Amino acid sequence: MSHTIVLIPGDGIGPEVTEATKRVLAAAGAEIQWLERVAGQAALDRGESDLLPASTVQAILDHGVALKGPCTTPIGGGFSSINVALRKKLNLYGAVRPIRSIDGVKTRYDDVDLIVVRENTEGLYSGIENIITEGVITSLKVATEDACRRIAIFGFEYCRSRGRRKVTVFHKANIMKLSDGLFIRCAREEWERAYSDLQYEERIIDAACMAIVQDPSQFDVILCENLYGDVISDLCAGLVGGLGVTPGANFGEQHAVFEAVHGTAPDIAGQNLANPLALLMTGVMMLRHLAETRDDPKCTDVADRIRDAYNHCLTHGEKTRDLGGSLGTREFADAIIKQLR
Ligand code: ATP
Repeated sequence: MSHTIVLIPGDGIGPEVTEATKRVLAAAGAEIQWLERVAGQAALDRGESDLLPASTVQAILDHGVALKGPCTTPIGGGFSSINVALRKKLNLYGAVRPIRSIDGVKTRYDDVDLIVVRENTEGLYSGIENIITEGVITSLKVATEDACRRIAIFGFEYCRSRGRRKVTVFHKANIMKLSDGLFIRCAREEWERAYSDLQYEERIIDAACMAIVQDPSQFDVILCENLYGDVISDLCAGLVGGLGVTPGANFGEQHAVFEAVHGTAPDIAGQNLANPLALLMTGVMMLRHLAETRDDPKCTDVADRIRDAYNHCLTHGEKTRDLGGSLGTREFADAIIKQLR
């Protein structure tokens, strides 16, 4: 079965890591027709007036799934964040970031296995900021009951469907009594209504951050509003080797956009230094999603073979520089392709 997937190479290291990912997926036998579309600075460079051209959004609406590299939002010029715009336009309300210890990547912990589920559409990322008077700015944190309930249900469903046991909500409802208060109330009510077979707990986010770095194994699925989820994802990425090894996906009711947690990393762009593993792992998540939603077991087989190949490379010291190795982006992809069985 062949799948048409929208590919957005993005900016900075985006084109390098998407190219490497495409090569590995093709070598592993993934039957994918890539439909390339632009977004971010790459869109402006092609003469588009919009960071997120209508043709890019339409392609995802038509085909349902996209693999996306990181995109730049130029500072100034009145552009709002491309990632926020894409999530809002497609109503990609649930972000998922699996954080797992990886064989061959030495960190302080070897037993991290958790999933960050992040509300993707509101909170402080609603982008509603006002200049009250010179030197006084307000930034509005939006919480709606619909979105809080929807992400709670998404988090519990994700937890259950992956055979996991516990959902922990991170919040600061002791200070933001109304907005975070609504978030935890909705989560608690949904748990009581339909998910009480799972364990459920609420933790104040500052103390929870300390607990994560002391012992990450006590967490399973972490449910957060938008800003907390963004920060916690990077914190957790640091537990398992950094942004080069952290995949991610954004889900709506109808569409899914798969993108790694890292940004455009302009400091290493265009130098064959970027680690393509985060996007490759993201591609593996995408294959598992295709297997599930399109009933195509071959995608599971391809995903397993890619995972085995990169695990083999990492445990045999074949890594990029961010993980202490010496391979470039292209050479690491070549090494993985060589190990595909
Ligand atoms: P953006 O503004 O697009 O978020 P950024 O540089 O501020 O970009 P990231 O791109 O997330 O943020 O990267 C932070 C740092 O992590 C970079 O300076 C880079 O050195 C490192 N990094 C991020 N992704 C990778 C990767 N895939 N491989 C190697 N290093 C990476």
